[in-house]
Amino acid sequence: MTPDVTASGDRERSLPREPLELTVDPEASGPALRPADGRGDILSLDFDEVDSAIASLGERPFRARQLFSWLHKRYAASVEEMSDLPRALREKLAERFVLAPPEIDLVQPSSDGARKYKLRTADGRFVEAVYLPDEAAGRRTLCVSSQVGCAMGCTFCLTATMGFVRHLSAGEILGEVHRVNRDLIETVGLAGPRPLTNLVFMGMGEPLHNFENLKRALQTLLSPAGPNFSSRHVTVSTSGLVPLIDRAGRELDVKLAISLNATTDETRDALMPINRKWNLEALLAACRRFPLKQGRRITFEYVLLDGINDSDEDARRLVRLLKGIPSKVNLIPYNESGQTGFREPPAAQVESFRAIVDQAGITAPVRKNRGRDISAACGQLAVLGQHRRRPAAQPGLVTPSGTGAG
Ligand code: SF4
Repeated sequence: MTPDVTASGDRERSLPREPLELTVDPEASGPALRPADGRGDILSLDFDEVDSAIASLGERPFRARQLFSWLHKRYAASVEEMSDLPRALREKLAERFVLAPPEIDLVQPSSDGARKYKLRTADGRFVEAVYLPDEAAGRRTLCVSSQVGCAMGCTFCLTATMGFVRHLSAGEILGEVHRVNRDLIETVGLAGPRPLTNLVFMGMGEPLHNFENLKRALQTLLSPAGPNFSSRHVTVSTSGLVPLIDRAGRELDVKLAISLNATTDETRDALMPINRKWNLEALLAACRRFPLKQGRRITFEYVLLDGINDSDEDARRLVRLLKGIPSKVNLIPYNESGQTGFREPPAAQVESFRAIVDQAGITAPVRKNRGRDISAACGQLAVLGQHRRRPAAQPGLVTPSGTGAG
C-alpha cells in the first residue's frame, strides 16, 4: 500500500509510486565478477599484491613499480601496451592475469561541459559515470558508479528501477576512473597524468553495500604509487547503512556524504526503504560518532521533492536533526524525468528552504543540476535496456519482506 506522506502547505502530495522493497541483505557485500578462466584480475590487486606477483614470476622488484604505474598512472587497457616491459614478462602476465577495464561504449557531452560515460563491463553489463568540470574552482569531478543497478529501492531514483544486478569489482571501479582520465587526455585534450581532481561515489549503486571492493579500489586510488587522489577530494555517499558507516569510519580515509532526503521517519520510510531498517535516529547517531578529521564535515544530500519534503517545517526540522553534527547540506531540486512522478519544487520554495537552513548557520548551497540535457543529473542514472521494476531474486541474498522479490 502506498503510504501517505504529509507535508505542510497547499502543495501537499502523496508519493506518486509504490515504494520498492529492499531485496538483499544490505550488510552483506557479495561477490563481484571474477574472470571465468581462473586467471586473476590484475586491476584489482593492490601494490603489495602486484609486488608479490612479480616476485613469484622471478622478476626484479622495480618491475612491480613499472607494472603498477602502467595500470594506475598510465591507464593501460592491455598488457600489450606496456612497451617497456620485456615481451617474456608480458606473456607471463597475460597467462596469469586478465586486464579488462570497462570499455567506453558511449560518451554524451552536455552543453554545460559535463560528459556522461556509458561503460560496458567484460560480461556485457553497463554502468554510467558523469564528469563534472568546474574550471573556475579548479575542480574536475567524476561521479562514480559502484554497482550495476542498486538494491536500495529509493523511490525517486531511476537506478532503483534497474534492481540490483551485481557489485563492481575493485578493478572495474578503478577501470571506470582510469578510462575517463584517459579519455579526458586523449579526446578532450586535458593535461595528464590525472586530469580528474575529485571523485564522488554517488553514481549507480550504494557504495557501502559493496564495501570490500570499494575499500580495495580506494586504497589504490589514494596510493602515491597509483593515481594519488587526496582523501580530502574523495567522497563516499550512502543511503544510510548504519553498521557500514561505522566500519567506514574505522577503515576508510575519505569524506562521508549521507543521502538524507527527509526529516521524518514516515516520509523517509516511504522514499528510502533502508530507513525501515535503520531510522533517522539510528542514522544520525552514526553520523554523530563518525570520526571526522580536523576541518571536515559530513555532507547531507537532500533532494527537494515538490510537496513531499520541501516545506518550511521540513527545513526547520532538518536544522534540529543536524544539531551537533558538523554539516553541510547540498540542496538538489528534483530533476523531473517523467518516469517517477515526482516534481521539482517552485524556485521560491527552494529559496525559502535554503534560507531557513542557512540562517541556522549550516552551509546549504542549491546544487546546479548539471548534465540535464543528457540525463546525467542526480537521480537520473539508469542504463536503458537494463530496467526492471523489481529485481529478480539473487542466489544467496535475503528478501527481508519475506514475500520474495520480483
Ligand atoms: S538513490 Fe542511491 S542508494 Fe538509493 S536507489 Fe538510487 S543509487 Fe541506490
